[in-house]
Amino acid sequence: MRLYKTTSGDTMKKKEEETGSAEEALAAMGLSVDDVTAAEERLEALGSRRYKESDGRICVCGHAVSRHTVTNGIVYCKPSRMECPCKKCRPVITAQDTRKFLRKTSGAGPFHALALGMLSHVKEGLWVKWIDPPKCDRCGADTKDVVPVPVTQQGTSVQYPTGFDALLCPKCRVEV
Ligand SMILES: [Zn+2]
Ligand SMILES: [Zn+2]
Ligand SMILES: [Zn+2]
Repeated sequence: MRLYKTTSGDTMKKKEEETGSAEEALAAMGLSVDDVTAAEERLEALGSRRYKESDGRICVCGHAVSRHTVTNGIVYCKPSRMECPCKKCRPVITAQDTRKFLRKTSGAGPFHALALGMLSHVKEGLWVKWIDPPKCDRCGADTKDVVPVPVTQQGTSVQYPTGFDALLCPKCRVEV
């Protein structure tokens, strides 16, 4: 590939040359801009996309939004070697180091991946912020003891990851 050198201080000209060189870089592989545009459209039509990489948000499942992918409307959450059954990516907090949100849910509140991920931040003096103050998903109460709870599709709270996580107040946790 040829490298362009700017001979004058003409920034307009420089910009044109840089635009040209990206096309040339593709042409060096025998690809035209049209070829790649067609491929991109095809990929978009397949409905596969990844959430933004450097996104500080954490889903209610307790894992980074950036670890979620959506293919044909189906969510996949893969925080590490472990797979999480998360069915719907719902960001609830932002965290300083999303890579530390890797735990597995084994119950409500302190046993939930979201709380365990927050604990990793407490231990290292990192910050975590709620995007919106936590509110009960069922009754709307914004008391201080709303916790993440793994629930079945029918809404029963269980002790294992279901892919459905709700933020619930103590009253709604018992009444399901
Ligand atoms: Zn999730
Ligand atoms: Zn997850
Ligand atoms: Zn409630």
